[in-house]
Amino acid sequence: MNIYLDNAATTKPKKEVVDAIIPYLTEEWYNPSSLYNKGKRVKNKIEEVRKIVAESINAKSNEIYFTSGATESNNWVMRGFNDCYKNSNIIISPIEHKSIMDNVINPAITSDINICRINKDGLVNLEYLDKLLYKYSQIHNKILVSIIFANNEIGVIQNIKDISDIVHKYNGIFHTDATQAFGHIPIDVKEYGIDLLSASAQKLGGIKGTGFLYKRNGIRINPLIWGSQERGERGGTENVIGIISLGKAIELIDFTKQSEVALLRNYFIEQLTKNFDCKINCDGKYRLPNNISVTFNHKITGEALIYSLESCGIYISAGSACNSESAEPSYVLQAIGLTDEEIYKTIRISLPDDIDKESIDKVICEIKNTISIIESAI
Ligand code: PMP
Repeated sequence: MNIYLDNAATTKPKKEVVDAIIPYLTEEWYNPSSLYNKGKRVKNKIEEVRKIVAESINAKSNEIYFTSGATESNNWVMRGFNDCYKNSNIIISPIEHKSIMDNVINPAITSDINICRINKDGLVNLEYLDKLLYKYSQIHNKILVSIIFANNEIGVIQNIKDISDIVHKYNGIFHTDATQAFGHIPIDVKEYGIDLLSASAQKLGGIKGTGFLYKRNGIRINPLIWGSQERGERGGTENVIGIISLGKAIELIDFTKQSEVALLRNYFIEQLTKNFDCKINCDGKYRLPNNISVTFNHKITGEALIYSLESCGIYISAGSACNSESAEPSYVLQAIGLTDEEIYKTIRISLPDDIDKESIDKVICEIKNTISIIESAI
């Protein structure tokens, strides 16, 4: 049995993606910056993908910059803004990914970073955001607001349009880390008023180590990695196979499939609440279709459950994979008001596109077995 329910950590590269990259490892392996035809062909392929990425979010091709993933894109935004506008303000939420969050302790960042409030349901408190922006707009020139589109642990999708309206009211720049949302829900950067957006190929069936930054024309931030590629905005020979994997993964996006996933996710939640003493975190309307964050009220930790399920070929996560090596309780779950004990009893399930009822029933059955074995042993 192999039931992989950790798709927020990474997804299996799709077969079509693997097929698409192989020629670029075996035949078309030339440097896209080379002037001869073989190089130009690779460059043309990259430009084709740039167009695919741009169209998928209603942007222009020259607004897309390929990076090594959302971690780099996020750091580029934070550092690039900081370096471009001295003595400026940055506002983030308390449930950002570590690649945004850790900039609070990044010695290279001299801008003040302020953390806005969220409500118990994980949504940014818009009134508070407005107040913060008002306050900083009175004293500073430029403000960057970076709010995660959909959270990687609790799956909450923010009111992106409302947030961007508030940010623009005060002439701020609005960045969103859309790594978990991209490919799962439609994103239109114009409609949502997004100035900067980060995403990664590995979350939608592409390969690891590739992503992009959307930077709206007219938005100015400094490069993070200096060099000649990507029109001087991001140096380094392009990760050709990663970029091709991203293009193919985007071509394979099927949003109708996501509504089927959401229905099965709801069935999963029904089975969890029927069979266990548990609560579903942030179980509102604004959720990623494939996400479940569940806190058990049984005598078992999330970690013990992970190891036990692994022995049956079922793979889940205790929180976010990026934090899983840390013994510290998740700051995201803390931010929505969970106690440390509750946090240690929480697991994250993130479903694949081809999830079915039979697999869900098997998982429920294995969780039941594990809990009854542990509880009878105590
Ligand atoms: N942001 C979010 C919300 C994520 O879930 C991740 C991946 N865990 C990242 C950023 C970083 O992506 P990558 O590791 O591909 O750079």
